[in-house]
Amino acid sequence: MYYISTRDKEKKVSGAFAIVSGISEDGGLYVPEYIPKLEKKDFDRLLEMDYCERAAFIMGKFLPEFSFDELRACAQKAYSRFDGDPAPLVKIDKKMYILELWHGPTHAFKDMALTLLPHLLLLCKRKLGIDTETVILTATSGDTGKAALEGFKDVKGTRICVFYPSEGVSNMQKLQMTTQEGDNVCVYGIKGNFDDCQSAVKSVFADSEVIEEMKKRRCAMSSANSINWGRLLPQIVYYVSAYLDLVGEEQLFDGERINFCVPTGNFGNILAAYYARQMGVPIEKLICASNSNNVLTDFFTKGEYNIKRPFFKTISPSMDILISSNLERLLFYASEMDDKLTAERMRLLKAEGRYAITEEEQKELSRVFYAGFSDEDDTIETIQDFFEDYNYPLDPHTGVAVSVYDKYVEQTDSKTKSAIVSTASPYKFPQDVLFSITGDFCGDSFRSMKKLYKETALEIPSDLLGLKSKPQLYRQVIQADEIKGVVLKFIGA
Ligand SMILES: *Cc1c(COP(=O)(O)O)cnc(C)c1O
Repeated sequence: MYYISTRDKEKKVSGAFAIVSGISEDGGLYVPEYIPKLEKKDFDRLLEMDYCERAAFIMGKFLPEFSFDELRACAQKAYSRFDGDPAPLVKIDKKMYILELWHGPTHAFKDMALTLLPHLLLLCKRKLGIDTETVILTATSGDTGKAALEGFKDVKGTRICVFYPSEGVSNMQKLQMTTQEGDNVCVYGIKGNFDDCQSAVKSVFADSEVIEEMKKRRCAMSSANSINWGRLLPQIVYYVSAYLDLVGEEQLFDGERINFCVPTGNFGNILAAYYARQMGVPIEKLICASNSNNVLTDFFTKGEYNIKRPFFKTISPSMDILISSNLERLLFYASEMDDKLTAERMRLLKAEGRYAITEEEQKELSRVFYAGFSDEDDTIETIQDFFEDYNYPLDPHTGVAVSVYDKYVEQTDSKTKSAIVSTASPYKFPQDVLFSITGDFCGDSFRSMKKLYKETALEIPSDLLGLKSKPQLYRQVIQADEIKGVVLKFIGA
């Protein structure tokens, strides 16, 4: 199977090359030239498999040049770092489930892909006979950074540099990154928001001087952001697996359709669900949940993507994003794989901050997607009500998802069973969750954790508690336009 760029589908590359490069040289994102289908016999086989085998089987559909055993070994290395089942489902009531994706080493769903990506990347380099060092550059809205650092720390032949918006992440997220250990890592705060961070990092990828300096030193850049196909691929797995688990437990009959509701920022997680649907998982609706930065809600309901709007800092910081990079892949499919049109829309987004899709495209997309948003008050109230009703503490991102799910059910009276994708442990955002549940505001994250434990009896991850006494090794905050300089310094230029 070949991979093509969303902005130029003439140039074909291998899956291994797409994963090693991260992004196409024309600025587009790599997609498989077709989406493989799961047949009835595939579902029957998958039902009998454990999570790592399912991962190997599904990823193998997109990477046929890799053996089942190679891919399973990657998955086993990744998911042995998880606390039990990597993607357990919790039944809330007759038609609502929570898919918990935060049992990995950094307690956010980014671990699902970022514990696996380093192993996949090494495998790809071996296949391609590449022995250059891989320099991972990552912009983070909070959770990707830590998950990527944990995934890549001390991995031979790689180095990683993470950039986060210095005032745009939660206290826990920041501490997780500034206390990072490992010999091949560095971390910088950036003055500005996530979009500034992401744009600056993207421009380093395209900077010919940086590319030259890398070459001289036998290095090459790659990305751990969800623009990298290697990030999306492991995320497809848990959608297929969740459906299979529910069928296996006779919560769904074979072929019964299900909704997934996904708290969305860069559009990576929900795009993985879209791939699962296109592969043949019986998904009815993908519910795209946004916070007050509701650019995606407007996109789906009005057919125009417009970033000329106020930017809000919210209690769900990993979704404080106006430029959702992965939407480019969906646009490519919505336009029936029209690379020229996709490139033109991305040009318009950069030049004018907006683009529109046709009415027909919008209608087609609304058959698959429902979009809604939750403002801060809605989210806080949802977390409070949910705890009262079900004794289950939601992190603020998952709170956004439940709030939008409630609106969906109210508007459509849908009777379809739904899984809400839960993307972080509440202990990553202890102050806001504590406040939402009890109305009690506590200025200290660690005291908040303990209070939250008293309320909920949900175990506190010991590494989060341990952050209190760890030395902060990376406290430097720089301007976005200094990123290029620090990257050059990082590789010794
Ligand atoms: C990254 C993140 C999201 C958003 O996921 P995208 O793939 O960027 O849409 C939601 N919740 C949490 C906790 C996250 O870390």
